[in-house]
Amino acid sequence: MKIIYNFHKGSRNMKDILGGKGANLAEMTKLKLPVPPGFTITTNYCNFFIKSKKHHPFFKKELKKHVSLLEKNTGKIFGDKSNPLLLSVRSGAKISMPGMMDTVLNLGLNNQTVKGLIKNTKNERFVYDAYRRFINMFGNVVLGIDNHCFEQILSNFKKQKKYKSDLDMDGDDWKKIVSKFKNVIKKKTNKSFPEEPEKQLKLAVEAVFKSWNNKRAITYRNLHNIPHALGTAVNIQTMVFGNLGITSGTGVAFTRNPATGHKGVFGEYLMNAQGEDVVAGTRTPKKITELKKDMPKVYRELIGYFHQLERHYQDMQDVEFTIEKGKLFILQTRTGKRTAPAAIKIATDLVKEKVISEKTALLRIEPETLDQLLHPIFDPTAKKNILTKGLPASPGAAVGRIVFGSEDAQKRVEKDKWPVILVRHETSPEDIQGMSSANGILTSCGGMTSHAAVVARGMGTCCIAGAQDVSIDYKNKTCKIKKTIFHEGDWISLDGSTGEVMSDQVETIQPKLQNNFNTVMRWADKYRKLKVRTNADTPQDSKIALDFGAQGIGLCRTEHMFFNKQRITHIREMILAENEKDRIKALKKLLPHQKKDFMEIFKVMKGLPVTIRLLDPPLHEFLPKTEEKEEIKILAKNLKKKAKEIVNTIIKLHELNPMLGHRGCRLSITYPEIAKMQIEAILSAACECQQQGIKVKPEIMIPLISTKNEFTFLEPICHETAKKVFQKYKTQVKYTLGTMIEIPRACLVADAIAKHAQFFSFGTNDLTQMGFGFSRDDAGKFLPEYVENEILPCDPFQKLDIEGIGELIKIAIKKGRKTKKNLKIGICGEHGGEPSSIHFCHKNKFDYISCSPYRVPIAKLAAAQAAIGK
Ligand code: PEP
Ligand code: MG
Repeated sequence: MKIIYNFHKGSRNMKDILGGKGANLAEMTKLKLPVPPGFTITTNYCNFFIKSKKHHPFFKKELKKHVSLLEKNTGKIFGDKSNPLLLSVRSGAKISMPGMMDTVLNLGLNNQTVKGLIKNTKNERFVYDAYRRFINMFGNVVLGIDNHCFEQILSNFKKQKKYKSDLDMDGDDWKKIVSKFKNVIKKKTNKSFPEEPEKQLKLAVEAVFKSWNNKRAITYRNLHNIPHALGTAVNIQTMVFGNLGITSGTGVAFTRNPATGHKGVFGEYLMNAQGEDVVAGTRTPKKITELKKDMPKVYRELIGYFHQLERHYQDMQDVEFTIEKGKLFILQTRTGKRTAPAAIKIATDLVKEKVISEKTALLRIEPETLDQLLHPIFDPTAKKNILTKGLPASPGAAVGRIVFGSEDAQKRVEKDKWPVILVRHETSPEDIQGMSSANGILTSCGGMTSHAAVVARGMGTCCIAGAQDVSIDYKNKTCKIKKTIFHEGDWISLDGSTGEVMSDQVETIQPKLQNNFNTVMRWADKYRKLKVRTNADTPQDSKIALDFGAQGIGLCRTEHMFFNKQRITHIREMILAENEKDRIKALKKLLPHQKKDFMEIFKVMKGLPVTIRLLDPPLHEFLPKTEEKEEIKILAKNLKKKAKEIVNTIIKLHELNPMLGHRGCRLSITYPEIAKMQIEAILSAACECQQQGIKVKPEIMIPLISTKNEFTFLEPICHETAKKVFQKYKTQVKYTLGTMIEIPRACLVADAIAKHAQFFSFGTNDLTQMGFGFSRDDAGKFLPEYVENEILPCDPFQKLDIEGIGELIKIAIKKGRKTKKNLKIGICGEHGGEPSSIHFCHKNKFDYISCSPYRVPIAKLAAAQAAIGK
């Protein structure tokens, strides 16, 4: 194990062991940029130290050797009282974790070395200021003393002296502070401040190593899926000072605008200041272009380095620099973080400038960030009062007035013109109208694949699900979020991208789609192998998806079509029918509605494949609850039945585990007339469209198959119905009959199913539910803890669990294609719009992925990245 690399010996490709900062410092040293000399202690050594809780026998010698090299390089001596070398000790992981770990600056100062530094700088004030900063940082980072203890002393001192700011402090004042700070250390640790520079260095390095496992670093890694085993490197570098007078300064700049992507340097600097002064916001920094006037030569040199770094790294850079007495130093370069519009502009500009290829440009854009371009976003400068956080189920920024019921939502929107936020425990298919009227949906229960989440994503409506701090009192139309009570009509704001629930009306802005976005989509289409379809149940959703370039519908959930006022009565009539004859009578009333819906969707999709799934949810989902007395009364009147009879049927239909109950293909098996009506509606719509010269490509899909025999039971019913429809219309329409694969057993017998099914579409919501045995609507209660404790790497309803559920899928594909070589395979669970799951689909040779309309661009980009080989 190599413990230490001199900056001269490393390179940008060594991020694994040198961390991002260390690798780039090495690279810049190689490029002969003015980097203060230094060395990096490796991540491997960090991991060794954390594990063994002690140093390697060679560590001390190695460290000494590299400090000596620095002394030779700078002509300064570590701990010397006439020409002391001062060091910075900074963390630097492979993946940047800004501000999460610790740093110690000005290391090497003690009662002796301050004298040399005063002699060399002729600036006592600066030296004692640097000394007190060091003692404060050392006390906090290494000795674990709360910063507040030091801040308190300084603020009392200034109060006593009636000083307004630190600028009023002179050298003598800082000297007194140094002594007071040392007393704090003595009092808190029972030990004196360590004067020996070697000891200071050893302790600081150990503290930075340990900071890898501080609470905030662990939380940050959990949030960003950064492995805990990486460890951090430690960069030890000669100090340079930006606060040595008016020819010194410090700043940060991006080589392009990180918010818009526009070309041109974008940054700020402060003269006579240290890096932390720029961040602290106590003084207003100047725009980088003003440096041209302040120090023209330094500015030219700096701009030259910006160009050189951007050319070298072939990407926008975020650079930190310091000017010490007129001499420029570059302290850090890294790939600059950017907004989605900036990412797109920079990537397409760099292709135009012939710096990168189209493929590289595609790899530079995070698919998930495209969401920012498609939905309104909160104004980043707006004030926010965050009440609580739920699951970021459907992105967007929604502002509206609280309503607690679906009908109220509709009424308030239509009559009172309120923008509304629908707040519910959970939504059900009955809430569809209210959901579509709402600007945003907030639920206190349910997970990422709950009804609210799935439907909201489909609609492109902002939704936060499973916000457990929200308790709702439907009766009084109030809810309590933590300690605050909200009434109907109160304003709240939801950020569907972060899950934040905020009080009042937070300002939003509509992001603009630029030409560059279309260019990126064109390139994605050129390289991707997977077709991208959409999950859509309405002509409106189909149109949105088509405009984003969807290549068909991968899942049309027919049950979503049953929920408008007129149809719900017919479906309830069908469910409540006591015999087949009455059921058929009710179904006949539904048929024209379904046919009309399908015709409209076929018209929008213009000959692209449209996969329509037969009825899937348990029937009682369509009925009112027994306690909804008024609803039952109306229903009884409409159906000319007694309320009691209806209540009895509802009770009879009640299931203990409805998700494992009478649903999916099981419904069509017990009531074939439902399947017959739906197939008649689909194929009649197809015939009529075809006769009007509109191309159609229907694909009929049977849900929840677990055995071949279920399929072969329904197959002839489907074909016989089709035959009758074609006879009636005196025409033929090409259609296929396939199945969803969403039960583990179906994966294991996929070879038998594939003998009959013409296509497979993986319903990974149910496959995850049944593969894990996790209820998709309740798992939100415990999954966060699973992820926190690393029992699972992430929520498997969000990202496909490749290890387990992926294995089931692989078995199904292998078996299915063994029977039918060219079996068409797709995915229509929520994972079909999630990048890492899309990579899995590409690797396993799916034909298509299907996702909600607003995720189509994300899916296209992710599919292209998978094909390019990200
Ligand atoms: C699935 O289970 O993945 C699926 C698409 O069906 P639904 O979500 O409607 O159960
Ligand atoms: Mg399903």
